[in-house]
Amino acid sequence: MIEFHQVSKVFESNGNKVEALKNINLTVEKGDIFGVIGFSGAGKSTLIRTVNLLEYPTSGKVIVEGKNLAKLSQYEIREAKKDIGMVFQHFNLLNSKTVFHNVAMPLLLSGYNKKAIENQVYETLRFVGLEEKAKNYPDQLSGGQKQRVGIARALTTNPSILLCDEATSALDPETTKSILNLLKRINEEYNITILMITHEMKVIKEICNRVAVMEDGQIIETGNVYNVFAHP
Ligand code: ADP
Ligand code: ADP
Repeated sequence: MIEFHQVSKVFESNGNKVEALKNINLTVEKGDIFGVIGFSGAGKSTLIRTVNLLEYPTSGKVIVEGKNLAKLSQYEIREAKKDIGMVFQHFNLLNSKTVFHNVAMPLLLSGYNKKAIENQVYETLRFVGLEEKAKNYPDQLSGGQKQRVGIARALTTNPSILLCDEATSALDPETTKSILNLLKRINEEYNITILMITHEMKVIKEICNRVAVMEDGQIIETGNVYNVFAHP
């Protein structure tokens, strides 16, 4: 579960202030596939990035599985972040490392032993359907395969929350469908709560159960997908 309580974020650049988030209140329940939709510049990316402290709120608080990460020690933040996977629009893979190594990275950084890493990485690669690509490099993969690697990397630490930042926006419609199906399986089979941001209505309609509509740093509407999009 993720709770946003009166979250605001102000960016200052060259003397200009941008209010990217204005007093956001929002609850993402355990097991949700929660979509946040809005135009470019609405504040979606800033919002999702406050969940794993890639951005700190200027005021207000974000509670993740009962914890306010911003109040924890550096060690506790590292531990808490293992519970939050993140998937990016442009995959953010290390091109000089194999698929195996990319997926192993979060576990290597956490000091797991070699055998445990190998088991976990292969199990996760099997789950996303890329076991046979373990020794390949990202350059040798299609966009959809790269995103599967990104998803596998996000899952290796067995998180309870998955954040998706425009995860399908760089992919063609067919590939988008297969990645959305994979996200749905992750939600159903591992009971992982998914918070995703997108500017594409069809993505929300395809897999989300709940949605928030963002505009100019605010949430202007929220509810279940059917109700929010049922009226003109
Ligand atoms: P979205 O993801 O909906 O496109 P963003 O969260 O990226 O929106 O941006 C919201 C607003 O905050 C925009 O006006 C953007 O220019 C501004 N913004 C985002 N990040 C920064 C930053 N690091 N510094 C200054 N302004 C920023
Ligand atoms: P546990 O938390 O005790 O590992 P789970 O039911 O969560 O039990 O996991 C069962 C098995 O599935 C474990 O071996 C675990 O490593 C694996 N697993 C759990 N979540 C994921 C995931 N998101 N991706 C890949 N494998 C996973």
